[in-house]
Amino acid sequence: MPNRFDPASNDLHKTIVENLADGVYMVEPDRTITYWNHGAERISGHSSESVVGHHCFDNILGHVDAAGRSLCHTACPLAQTMADGETREVAIWLKHADGYRKPVRVRTAPVRDGEGRIIGGVEVFSDDSAVVQAAEDVARARRDALTDELTGLPNRRLFDAAVAGRLENLARYGWQFGLLIVDIDQFKVANDEHGHAFGDAVLVTVAQTLRGAVRVGDILARWGGDEFTVLVEAPSGTDLLDTAERLSSLVNQSEVRLGGVATGVQVSVGGTPATPDDSAETLFARADSSLYAAKSAGRNRIEISQPT
Ligand code: GH3
Ligand code: MG
Repeated sequence: MPNRFDPASNDLHKTIVENLADGVYMVEPDRTITYWNHGAERISGHSSESVVGHHCFDNILGHVDAAGRSLCHTACPLAQTMADGETREVAIWLKHADGYRKPVRVRTAPVRDGEGRIIGGVEVFSDDSAVVQAAEDVARARRDALTDELTGLPNRRLFDAAVAGRLENLARYGWQFGLLIVDIDQFKVANDEHGHAFGDAVLVTVAQTLRGAVRVGDILARWGGDEFTVLVEAPSGTDLLDTAERLSSLVNQSEVRLGGVATGVQVSVGGTPATPDDSAETLFARADSSLYAAKSAGRNRIEISQPT
């Protein structure tokens, strides 16, 4: 069937529509495609010859929504527009002639005759890949900004935000939490003796062990360098000490292996429960001095201090 274009009595309009970057196609009320411009060919991969004269639901565009639901037979925006005369704009995925799914932004409008009767529909669709890609990039950047690249653990930024939130909840509702700082003993030695890559392997091994050792709900982060932090939820009695002992003994029983070198690894832990009067600074300062005490006492130790 020839590529018909009704308003094509006007060659200028036809030339303009023909050369739009957007895809444009027109259908009759039964959704037989009567026109398909160059943009539609480029975006969908379907040539005008292959689609004009066919129904748009004949396995040509196969529109689906973000959940993968097919729209052709139940919620076709163009059919809905021809039924109620309302224009629509939706983000959907079409099936490219090569088979892959491509995000497009679709706008539909009714085509009316001189008396206002709906005699067809027009759909304009634009390639949404760049927009979808940009949204994914933003989501990834946000995730990256809160994640430590080497270990995949939450980073200091995320941890500090969590501590700030928990301090507020403690002051407002009395919800208890505690802070542990886990610092690798003599990490510099591992780095110096076996190289930076081995040091990295130590960090990853410790991170993996700690990840499996904290309880669900506790937040473990790589706070920086060879220091890991744990926000322990609702500790009571000896919970902080018990958690610290579990973390430290599991790390002590782990082994770092890389390039034929295998070593053990030990940590010191400092910790303290948070109080309603704490700021992040006072809380960290108390946990830090506990850690310092553990290091000074000979390393591979745990020191939990109570607020005064
Ligand atoms: P201590 O027992 O008192 O904790 O001593 P230490 O040697 O563990 O502690 P120190 O703070 O002196 O050493 C930390 C070192 O960690 C210094 C720094 O070069 C190294 N470091 C920091 N980040 C990384 C990293 O991402 N990879 C590696 N391989 N080394 C790192
Ligand atoms: Mg250290």
